[in-house]
Amino acid sequence: MTQTTATSRATVHGYPRQGAHRQLKKATESYWAGRIDAHTLLGTARELRLHNLTQLRDAGIDEIPSNDFSFYDHVLDTAWMLGAIPERHLAAVPDTTSTAGRLDRYFAMARGTADAHPLEMTKWFDTNYHYLVPEIGPGTRFTLDPGKPLGEFAEALEQGVQTRPVLLGPVTFLLLAKDPTGTEGFRPLDLLDQVIPLYADLLRRLHEAGAQWVQLDEPALVTDQPAEVLAKVADTYATLAAATARPKIVVASYFDRLGDALPVLATSAVEGLALDFTNAAAANLGGLAAAGGMPGKRLIAGVVNGRNIWAADLSAALSTLGTLLGLAGSVDVSASCSLLHVPLDVTLETGLDPEIAGWLSFARQKLDEIVTLRRGLTEGRTAISDILHTNQSRLASRAASPIVRVPAVRDRVAAVTDADLHRISPYATRRQAQQGRLRLPELPTTTIGSFPQTQELRTARAALRAGTLDHAAYRDAMRAEIRAVIAEQERIGLDVLVHGEPERNDMVQYFGEQLTGFLATRHGWVQSYGTRYVRPPLIVGDVSRPAPMTVEWAAYAQSLTERPVKGMLTGPVTMLAWSFVRDDQPEGDTARQVAVALRDEVLDLERAGISIIQVDEPALRETLPLRTADRAAYLDWAVAAFQLSTAGVRDDTQIHTHMCYAEFGDVLAAIIDMDADVISLEAARSAMAIVADLARAGYANEAGPGVWDIHSPRVPSVEEIVGHLRTAVGAFPPGRLWVNPDCGLKTRGYPEVRATLANLVEATGHLRARP
Ligand code: GLN
Ligand code: ZN
Repeated sequence: MTQTTATSRATVHGYPRQGAHRQLKKATESYWAGRIDAHTLLGTARELRLHNLTQLRDAGIDEIPSNDFSFYDHVLDTAWMLGAIPERHLAAVPDTTSTAGRLDRYFAMARGTADAHPLEMTKWFDTNYHYLVPEIGPGTRFTLDPGKPLGEFAEALEQGVQTRPVLLGPVTFLLLAKDPTGTEGFRPLDLLDQVIPLYADLLRRLHEAGAQWVQLDEPALVTDQPAEVLAKVADTYATLAAATARPKIVVASYFDRLGDALPVLATSAVEGLALDFTNAAAANLGGLAAAGGMPGKRLIAGVVNGRNIWAADLSAALSTLGTLLGLAGSVDVSASCSLLHVPLDVTLETGLDPEIAGWLSFARQKLDEIVTLRRGLTEGRTAISDILHTNQSRLASRAASPIVRVPAVRDRVAAVTDADLHRISPYATRRQAQQGRLRLPELPTTTIGSFPQTQELRTARAALRAGTLDHAAYRDAMRAEIRAVIAEQERIGLDVLVHGEPERNDMVQYFGEQLTGFLATRHGWVQSYGTRYVRPPLIVGDVSRPAPMTVEWAAYAQSLTERPVKGMLTGPVTMLAWSFVRDDQPEGDTARQVAVALRDEVLDLERAGISIIQVDEPALRETLPLRTADRAAYLDWAVAAFQLSTAGVRDDTQIHTHMCYAEFGDVLAAIIDMDADVISLEAARSAMAIVADLARAGYANEAGPGVWDIHSPRVPSVEEIVGHLRTAVGAFPPGRLWVNPDCGLKTRGYPEVRATLANLVEATGHLRARP
């Protein structure tokens, strides 16, 4: 590639907010606990922003974003900016004349107060980041509060840095909102005409403050949208572009391809687009060519993957950039999306094998990749030949590594046959065999797996890690906990017991630590929501199970009671969804390897006398591809992986699965295909609607719709649970219903767990006596 462009810039859409030591989390939680004041919290936030600014500038990022910081979530920030604040939060914190008042009202929206429940929280597209769902009804009146974007722009300008403010775009904001009043025929998007003038006003103010470019994020356009919405997109950006006093506009999309929205934006009057060119969004390249390119416009090309942790193939990215030069007026280099979704810095992982570290790229390393690519684009390949060379040799070391490709694992997976995906007998036959073995009463009662994680348990795990507690003592502590949990459940009178999962730090990490191919990080924190961060394991190579992972605990628990104890595993789809997955083979192949490892564990549990085995798949719905056209292929491998992990058991071994955190409408057919004997699902908040949905979809196995919303410490009364159960019994054959909470109990305390489970057992008794 010899073509060069003098105007290319290195940029990013956003950077992790928390700081290298999660200072933002600590400061925010200290503020909530009353240990620091508002002024101190604001000071920490400012320091972190300035630190990021310096880091990005020193890395060579030419155009740095602003307003990517957030105390909690950027969708919440947008609702605040537009004055879309629910009445109850205005009332909960009436006085916002002080900084503390403003912060408190903002946090009230995020976390609720004693009398005002928070905004609902849900997943940001197909990521593990959660946003707060704006409440917008027919009566919502918007007012602009431009303080945050203006303040953060000015703050950077004071340091001599002209940033590109990043804002959530009006169409996506309204598409993500929901109407709390449920008014017939109303959609938040109906208020678009009221919101656009506020954005126009904000653009004018940013212009006055000196902003030359602004970025409006419209990721909702990578999901299927009807023509009528695309027409609104066209109108919106025609209106915003028509304003005379404004910065230039770049409309950003990420996580998938723009599809039909691409020509709409490419021909609009905005000055630029930011497009993702990774994974499924790689189709944007063809889409752009088909649309005739975007001559004269600025393209911010997301060629460095902002969602994974792998070093980019710089040479391939450079070729993509070269192609793009012919399709746009100018081409800038960026990550595919905000770097918020990856950990901060590989160099913090000092314990990592240096060879493996060379394969990885976290946020800080991605900055270097972007800057290198920008140089390659403007100065030519030879200017970066040393870096390209190192990059190629690292990619080669990864491809050839014996960790990455393990022939024994590949042989086993290759030997999987279709028969391995199916149970020996159909459900009706299995049901009889299981009834004969388990002898459960009607409406069997159970829980989802975990019991409260007490401080003692966390302390014991930390002490084991620190080496101050030896394995034998740790094992004793866990066994004592299992004894207590079993005794508790027997006392309460549950029918199918669990061991309580005291030994698990996290339902994915626990297995990741025991499977080869998975790698844990020490500092790889990624924001999940608010001040909650997770440390997803990395799947770097072929996956196998060197030894049983749960059998000892399950068998011990079963030895303590006559009642069945469920074995408890995390399913293959969820293992992938909550890890960083490898990018050198289809996800389905990785899932199959995990499934084979789990299948061995399932069979070991069965051999150890465990009669019921639950394989949790809470993430099945959330990794559904954003574009409908891609869903069937995903569900094919996802369902097959679940079947492969579970179908090896005898007829009289009962397989359970569990799902939560989602609406299941899109995956009912998949649930049926998974062919678990029993599925427990989140249902309490939607008043058991799932039961009728399952029946209507033709689901003929057993189901346990959750009767307790475990997200809240509230103890549902016997009457309330009876009410839920009557609804369920009215919609589903009672002989195939189970009674259980919505999800695991690990985040709850013992007082509410004891009280609720007692009510659950009592309510079930009422139903059994008088169905
Ligand atoms: N078995 C797990 C537990 O009870 C399931 C957790 C989940 O679905 N997220 O904790
Ligand atoms: Zn759950």
